[in-house]
Amino acid sequence: MNILVLNCGSSSVRFQLIATDAALIERDSDLCLARGHLERFGPESLVSFRAEGQPAIERTEAVADHRAAIEIILRWIKSLGDIHAVGHRVVHGGERFQQSVRIDEEVLAGIEACAELAPLHNPVNLRGIRAATELLGTDVPQVAVFDTAFHATMPDTSYLYALPLELYQKHHIRRYGFHGTSHRYVAERYQKLKGLSPDAVNIITLHLGNGCSACAIKNGKSFDTSMGFTPLEGLVMGTRCGDIDPSIIEHLVAHADMRPAEIDALLNFDSGLLGVSGLSNDMRTLLDADIEQHNPRARLAIDIFCQRVKKYLGGYIAEMGGADAVIFTGGIGENSPVIRARICKGLECLGLTLDSVRNFELPPNGGEISTPGSSLKCLVIPTNEELMIARDTFLVVENSRAR
Ligand code: AMP
Repeated sequence: MNILVLNCGSSSVRFQLIATDAALIERDSDLCLARGHLERFGPESLVSFRAEGQPAIERTEAVADHRAAIEIILRWIKSLGDIHAVGHRVVHGGERFQQSVRIDEEVLAGIEACAELAPLHNPVNLRGIRAATELLGTDVPQVAVFDTAFHATMPDTSYLYALPLELYQKHHIRRYGFHGTSHRYVAERYQKLKGLSPDAVNIITLHLGNGCSACAIKNGKSFDTSMGFTPLEGLVMGTRCGDIDPSIIEHLVAHADMRPAEIDALLNFDSGLLGVSGLSNDMRTLLDADIEQHNPRARLAIDIFCQRVKKYLGGYIAEMGGADAVIFTGGIGENSPVIRARICKGLECLGLTLDSVRNFELPPNGGEISTPGSSLKCLVIPTNEELMIARDTFLVVENSRAR
């Protein structure tokens, strides 16, 4: 089955065309037929396409909106084969969507209702779903795969804030968690690599990219995760602050003459690695500035970043009563041995000793980077959210046909 995976951002669409079916999933040999993205919608949008075995196409082109972008994608991939189903990344499923679902009018209304919780994301995801329906017709099934769904298994002790309980009951204020598709993918890869049954997976996954989150996976299920009501909570990220004392907001209102919306923007877009370093949200730039120019703010930003990860790791190991492995994924987690080494330094007390040679000489498909004697293993597993979305889409469509 050829699945078109769509990931709609505020002014971008990323896509992959993936061929999958039960046998391909079983053998882990699904095929990515094409991938690409259209970014910065406007008269000179950046367009990038790459089909398997063909040279990449990079150009600028006028792209008005999500509908126009999806129309261009469909025109381009038509020659590669029919599209049998579409899988959409949807950021927020609230408490209602605890797994991937086939999209119908009721599901659309449900995603719309969750937009209150993710006003920047869900409306954009809906635009993508509506455009795909208009362009492909209602005969091509569409499936929504939610970033939050994997974390639906968290116990109330993990998802509730210590606020008056009425805020949860009346206003749905709770921790939802995000990056669920990535944490789930990585956990499944680990399970297969180790030949375990799903409920024997006890690991901590670290998705470290521009957005960062940690997840405590106990008996194969999300037990706790660092992002909360929004993706702002938890680890230090490219431009997000992660955990801070909430009283800072009131203090800034009173003493820095800032409005809540300005503070929200500051915490989301001007903080994190960028805010501390004053230089960049990009870890590569900060590592270069630290190592080559001895830039003290770049060093400080990296140190705060790594210390926060350690803090969550230690906390999760205590919460879970021990874990078997720590998994690095995401742009930083997969590609930066220096950051992995800084995070793991001193974790020998938890049973994790990094093999410094393996850490630096890792093949692109990842692998184990702890010493054979480590009781807490450490692995790098590249994430693949698009593949997870394609597989879910296939399974949901097959199940709905069987019924
Ligand atoms: P993502 O959001 O998963 O695409 O990850 C983006 C982040 O990964 C950015 O901070 C990049 O600087 C970082 N990154 C990508 N490659 C490397 C690398 N080789 N070393 C350090 N950081 C990297």
